Amino acid sequence: MASSTKNRIDSIIINQEWCKRCGICVSFCPKKVFEEDDEGTVSIPRPEDCIYCELCERLCPDLAITLVPKPQDSGDPS
Ligand code: SF4
Ligand code: SF4
Repeated sequence: MASSTKNRIDSIIINQEWCKRCGICVSFCPKKVFEEDDEGTVSIPRPEDCIYCELCERLCPDLAITLVPKPQDSGDPS
């Protein structure tokens, strides 16, 4: 599952085959980006709220979460 965001990350991906539905990401995300249903399946209803703190990616025991950052703004290098 992948969801687009409007901020620093391009998308959040959950590998549902690796996810063991422990709920850690749902509990620890400070922005409540994730939700789980009655069976523990995690969805990403609020990807636009993600602040790219990387907690979910670091805490997921099954490495099921991948945060895909946006390419750096080219900005003004000078
Ligand atoms: S990076 Fe932080 S804010 Fe974004 S989904 Fe993961 S825990 Fe939530
Ligand atoms: S922390 Fe990882 S294994 Fe646990 S529910 Fe979230 S995605 Fe699934």
